[in-house]
Amino acid sequence: MTPRLRFAPSPTGYLHVGGARTALFNWLYARRHGGAFILRIEDTDVARSQAEMVTGILDGLRWLGIDWDEGPEIGGPHAPYFQSERLERYRAAARALLDSGQAFEDGGAIRFKVPPGKTAFTDRVHGPIEFDNEHIESFVILRSDTHPTYHLSVVVDDIDMAITHVVRGDDHISNTPKQVLLYHAFGKTPPSFAHVPLIMGPDKQRLSKRHGATSVMEYEKQGYIPEAMFNFLALLGWGTGSNDELFTRDELIQQFNLDGISGGNAVFNVEKLDWFNHQHLVRLSDDEIVARLRGARLDAWGLGTDTRSASMLALLRPRCKKLTDLPDQLRPFFEDPAAYDADAIKKQLSLPGCADHLRALRGSYEQVEWSEAALERALRELADARTIKAGLLIHGTRIAMTGRMVSPGLFEMLIVLGRDTVLRRLDRLAAFL
Ligand code: GLU
Repeated sequence: MTPRLRFAPSPTGYLHVGGARTALFNWLYARRHGGAFILRIEDTDVARSQAEMVTGILDGLRWLGIDWDEGPEIGGPHAPYFQSERLERYRAAARALLDSGQAFEDGGAIRFKVPPGKTAFTDRVHGPIEFDNEHIESFVILRSDTHPTYHLSVVVDDIDMAITHVVRGDDHISNTPKQVLLYHAFGKTPPSFAHVPLIMGPDKQRLSKRHGATSVMEYEKQGYIPEAMFNFLALLGWGTGSNDELFTRDELIQQFNLDGISGGNAVFNVEKLDWFNHQHLVRLSDDEIVARLRGARLDAWGLGTDTRSASMLALLRPRCKKLTDLPDQLRPFFEDPAAYDADAIKKQLSLPGCADHLRALRGSYEQVEWSEAALERALRELADARTIKAGLLIHGTRIAMTGRMVSPGLFEMLIVLGRDTVLRRLDRLAAFL
């Protein structure tokens, strides 16, 4: 049987990391087994405009590269995929349970008549789970306003949409016996359930805004790339059993299985996400980086796929943690420093004679062979000749080039900047001092 899995978010206006991780697991399983991944919007309770509330979720999924085979915008054989458009289905299902004596009316609402006995299911993560029906109240399935409760709508839809596997958060374990009872009442076999441990903050409390951003798209704004977020989320509560952590999307599809989901809670550790981001960023091709950085400033600078741009990216790539760091780090390659960091000047260039030393270096750099080794040798020889520390010239040159104390490898940078720019910037700083 071809697996059919679904992600069934209630519209909140954004995709939070817990939901994204749930979507990801369902998607990975469906893709791994050549099945279908369905997106269904559980909007029966929401008064606000649907489109607006759903957009954020769709955007988050798209950014992560989680595509759906049936659902909003594309439809499918089981349309509609919005619960608010399926209300008649739930009313009919509730009536059917009334007619078969498995439900009863109570003050305008319809309640399910919980039979005696036990309700059991085997959870793919937690193993066999059994509830005594005595502890399950006769729960409402259709409210007096004729809107379904979550239990009814989710079961009716999962049956109609032929869902075979339900992967969702641990917080739904206690809902599952009620849903299993409904499957049986409808004469259907329940799907296979896998309840995934919740995501915790580093303090082991349930992840919330207190711990930082919880919206997936917020991480995009902060300069994280989807490859990294995807890899990071996949390993929140799942693993291959080995120490391997770095995976591409395709590798994850090939390796994902429900057995690798751990029963213990997963901790959202932002330093770990940073590590993934760096690892995936350094693996992006130049073309990819340039395409993702596209924007007015970079277009004006002319960052492209030429060899000069490639040299810059090769220099900056190992130092880059976030995509958003790059424009700032690229600036010195395109613009003379607009100002000099006052602390850096005070710390490195406050001794008398610094301007003169920098002018002398400029003189030497006017004729030197333009290679890293030659530039470094010339600088050190000049320092010896003037009995000053090479560090003074190194720091001075760095400040001249970037306005600051930080730069990628100095001599490599000088090579990329080119002789004219280097001489001009040494002049400018000497004149400033
Ligand atoms: N709409 C429910 C939620 O967002 C879906 C739960 C389920 O997957 O059954 O929690």
